[in-house]
Amino acid sequence: MLDLEALIGEMQVQAADVVRSARSSLRQREAATAQVAVARALPGLRDAVLAFARDMAMPAVGRDLGAVAPPPTPENGLLDYTVIATDGSQVAPDYHHIAPWAVINAGYALFRFGPPAGRARCRLGSVPRLLAPGSAEPTPQDPGIEADSDADALAAAGLNSSRLEAQRLVAELDLARKLVMDEGDPGRTVLLLDGPLVQWRMITALKGVDQEQTVAAFRRFVQTCHEAGVAVAGYISRSRAVEWVTLLRFSLCPEVQAGRALCPTCRNGLLAGYAAPAPGAHHAPLAGLRDIELARDLLPAGGGWRTEIIELRSATWQTISGGTGTVGFCYLDTGTEIARVEVPSWTWEHPERMALLHAALCDQCESGAGYPLVLAEAHEAAVVRAADREMFYTVLERLLGEHGVTTVSRSAKGESKRRPAA
Ligand SMILES: [Zn+2]
Repeated sequence: MLDLEALIGEMQVQAADVVRSARSSLRQREAATAQVAVARALPGLRDAVLAFARDMAMPAVGRDLGAVAPPPTPENGLLDYTVIATDGSQVAPDYHHIAPWAVINAGYALFRFGPPAGRARCRLGSVPRLLAPGSAEPTPQDPGIEADSDADALAAAGLNSSRLEAQRLVAELDLARKLVMDEGDPGRTVLLLDGPLVQWRMITALKGVDQEQTVAAFRRFVQTCHEAGVAVAGYISRSRAVEWVTLLRFSLCPEVQAGRALCPTCRNGLLAGYAAPAPGAHHAPLAGLRDIELARDLLPAGGGWRTEIIELRSATWQTISGGTGTVGFCYLDTGTEIARVEVPSWTWEHPERMALLHAALCDQCESGAGYPLVLAEAHEAAVVRAADREMFYTVLERLLGEHGVTTVSRSAKGESKRRPAA
């Protein structure tokens, strides 16, 4: 039995802490909203960010950083559109198996509302690809693969987890690109990716050949979507981003407010990672606040509203896109949460294309109870379930058996590695 009497003292202390932190967060949110009014009236803010020369958010040219846009209605929105999404999953190699092969499965979903003549209303499917350890070129830093090395070493050298991740990203991007070419309908197509468009993992986590191949695939994807005039967005649920708030913190510096460059103290402290700002620093008052908290306060109730595009000064984007335009983000009230939407400049600089994207996102979130249905369906199409995985290994063992290779029964450790993954 729980002795509540014994707990009550601790609960009282904790409750007081919760109330204190809620109050301070409320004060911060009020201060952030007030700072939006200050920042949107600073004509030199964008130039000051550019002069700072670090990667961070800045007002897009000609855009009011505090503006919001209402949900498109049937009158001003677009009823007919085509929406495409891709996602990927994998069967990781089982290093205890004689043939530690892996499978990449790229899934897709495509819906057409008011389909043009001869076009399908809905397409769902997946494109699997087998990755045997020898099928990928080893990265330069990998040890050479000896003919008689054991399966573990072979697998580790040829198919490490970052190679698998890279190959999965390449498969997703190439599939998205192919769908845009084969299935895109001019002037009405929206393509959604699950996760950030500024895929910093490509630059930070992937190395050597893996990075080169992934960047090349992303550039092909960007070029095709750009040329086809497709509205593209990366959709991020439960975002923890602070870029918009960082721009507001930048604008708190009195030097910036006076139309000059950031003061030396702010220059050193503003982007100091997770370190708490020095007490008294100009930018300290808004530290720790998240963009979605600010967006929640700025967006009118009722769902479907979005914030204005904020541009990102991003070296990562320049690298992975091959310098095709720039990238930015906005926040959308889906009805159940505030989602972050990352958008390339060729989408937001074209008013009809941006309206199409906004309308499609609202419609998709309405169908998917707060999450775009097309992304949920692409995920379902990509996912490899435990039964599929077992079937893959059964077929693999039968094939090896036909070649006279008898496989040892799969070890308990091997079995445990084969959990469902998406
Ligand atoms: Zn300052």
